[in-house]
Amino acid sequence: MTVITRFPPSPTGFMHIGNARTALFNYLYARAKGGKFVIRIEDTDRARHSEEAVEVIFNALEWMGLDYDNTPQSQYENRARHAEIAHALLAAGKAYKCYCSPEELEKMREQSKSEGRAVAYNNYWRDRDESEAPKGVQPVIRIKSPLEGESIVDDVVQGKVRVDNKQLDDFIILRSDGVPTYMLAVVVDDHDMDVTHVIRGDDHLNNTFRQNVIYDAMGWKKPIYAHCPLIHGADGSKFSKRHGSVSIEDYKNMGFLPEALNNYLLRLGWGHKDEEIIPMERALEIFDIKGISKAASKFDFKKLESLNAHYLNAADNDRLVDLISPFLKEKHNIIISEEGLTRLQAGMDGIKERAKTLIDLAAESRIYLVDAPFPYDEGAQKHLTPAAKTILKEILTELKALNDFNHEDIEHKCRNIAQIKADGKLGNVMMPFRAALAGTDKSPALFEAAEIIGKPEVIKRLEHAIAYIGTSASH
Ligand code: GLU
Repeated sequence: MTVITRFPPSPTGFMHIGNARTALFNYLYARAKGGKFVIRIEDTDRARHSEEAVEVIFNALEWMGLDYDNTPQSQYENRARHAEIAHALLAAGKAYKCYCSPEELEKMREQSKSEGRAVAYNNYWRDRDESEAPKGVQPVIRIKSPLEGESIVDDVVQGKVRVDNKQLDDFIILRSDGVPTYMLAVVVDDHDMDVTHVIRGDDHLNNTFRQNVIYDAMGWKKPIYAHCPLIHGADGSKFSKRHGSVSIEDYKNMGFLPEALNNYLLRLGWGHKDEEIIPMERALEIFDIKGISKAASKFDFKKLESLNAHYLNAADNDRLVDLISPFLKEKHNIIISEEGLTRLQAGMDGIKERAKTLIDLAAESRIYLVDAPFPYDEGAQKHLTPAAKTILKEILTELKALNDFNHEDIEHKCRNIAQIKADGKLGNVMMPFRAALAGTDKSPALFEAAEIIGKPEVIKRLEHAIAYIGTSASH
């Protein structure tokens, strides 16, 4: 059997982190088993439909690197086929027309409530002759659900889940205006797309029992189901906006790498021994739906961050330069010059070790990309004091005299200055030096950075900082 999994998102305008994990599981399972991964856009809600919302999904899939094997299908475009199946069920006596008015349905609902029954509709038209149909009323089509016994879903994750068939109503499969219901559309599409495995959130488990009624009525083979527990926030409730960002795009904009997010989402609710770092290549070797945990998992931002730090450190430097470019432009108004690029490439190893996100990386890169004169932020200003001016002048003199501008010699000079001018406190030398070079109070390893920036530019930055203290000391 060729495994065929599917991802059928509803275009809501963003890709929820939980949906992304569902997509990932389906993708991995198909790929790990040499099967196919297919996409269907569940776009039947026409009132809220927009092409942009569909784009968001494809952008997210592309960013995550989840490629698929079909021309993505539109559920809405397939509505004639869904209606055809509703009529086939009708013709086979597995479904029937129901002419109840909204008022009648409301009465039934009230009565069933007062009798403590689980379903609202009382099957009024189930065995009634159509000759009794009221004139001029367009009927809906309802499916005949089993009346007795119990239904069982043998779920890969949840185990055997049972439902008393009294809980299953004769639900609508085709509305009076001929529009198929979601329940019908999903089953017909999954069947027509030859889906073998349905891996989705356990919020769909209730639907599964109803969907199985349609499978049975059509005599179709049911897929294997794996209902995954939802992702929760730290407080144990369903992960939502109040816990933090819920959309994939937000994580991209916060400077996370797709491989870090994939690894994080994979581990969130799935495990293989105690492996934590699981790049996609490895996941493709070991992923199986059997490893999906039955317990809900909590979203842990710190863990995601530490995985991101790991993948940033492992990433190719040229790729990182490309990835931080938009952040540099947007957050720091910096466009990388040719000279800046050469410095950044030399300095990248040193900064990527410490960064947690691409935003950190962009901020730390600035030291290689700016040319003096540049402004000093508050953190830098704190260290550009009149006392620091003497130190900076000293550094300037010493560094000017260096012929070979390497980090060991630069460090040696700074240590000497600390001994002579700062009671041996290296920090009192480094902090103003850092402020002068970086324009802020954080930087990669300073002496290495100075070497990479190069003598002429270091001299220029020191001179500029000294001149700045001259002007700023007056106020
Ligand atoms: N369109 C549904 C959703 O986005 C998915 C339904 C399913 O997986 O069967 O939740």
